[in-house]
Amino acid sequence: MLDKQLLREKITAFVEHDSANYWHKGLRFFDPPLLGYARVDDPLFQEMKKKEIGGGMFRPPVEWLEGAVSVISYFLPFTEAVRRSNDVADEPSKNWLYARFEGEKLNNRLRKFIVDELAATGLRAVAPLLEDEFTIDHHLLVSNWSERHAAYAAGLGTFSLSRGLITARGIAGRFGSIITAGEYTPLPRDYSFPFQYCSWLREGLCGSCIKRCPAGAISEDGMNKELCRQYLHQKDSLQKLREEHGYPYSACGKCQIGVSCEGQIPSSATG
Ligand code: SF4
Ligand code: SF4
Repeated sequence: MLDKQLLREKITAFVEHDSANYWHKGLRFFDPPLLGYARVDDPLFQEMKKKEIGGGMFRPPVEWLEGAVSVISYFLPFTEAVRRSNDVADEPSKNWLYARFEGEKLNNRLRKFIVDELAATGLRAVAPLLEDEFTIDHHLLVSNWSERHAAYAAGLGTFSLSRGLITARGIAGRFGSIITAGEYTPLPRDYSFPFQYCSWLREGLCGSCIKRCPAGAISEDGMNKELCRQYLHQKDSLQKLREEHGYPYSACGKCQIGVSCEGQIPSSATG
């Protein structure tokens, strides 16, 4: 079995060297990942099922892998170069668009890399997002596995007003997870409720993401997924480019950039 230290080293080296983490002119999509672990018998996973996460579609880890013991979750923070590129007015930057879609190719390669590395030591493992049974209901905008909920259970961060997950490296990036029969002991979570790191949800401060959203999808009450979806499917200045690349819709991410949780836990939420 790969111990945590070796697993971390292998994952970090993969992200550092894999060509899919780089785009033209040397743009790097992701910094080294944060890693967290959860036990599959953590009551949170049953609560997620009961609370109708994913509109009732959510499948706990043991329904993805018989004999599963642990969930390995990671956060890939977007680099400063990607984030600053999108720190402009309403339209998405090209580099943010590439980071969203080309960067997800790196994320898929990382999911497979971890599964293969575990398998090489005799450990069964699955990445739900690479499985045929992974299902998204595009009408209800829900799915039967949630990378962000796995990350929450694994101690990586808490949910935000903008429906992201705020980690120690902020909110701007991508998540992934692997379910395995290997035993990876979690550390205690640093938070006691699901919205602890969001200044607004914690104590009514900040709210910057409300003003940043060009679609008016975020209000004091939360984020309207349908308004966001409509915005991402509308014609934009990058439509030709994204169609050339075969991206199914645009990117935006303005709610994650130029805000206090962009690259860290807001200071008002750490006291
Ligand atoms: S910008 Fe402020 S209110 Fe919005 S998610 Fe981040 S911390 Fe919460
Ligand atoms: S991605 Fe864009 S449209 Fe969607 S909630 Fe964030 S800022 Fe609004």
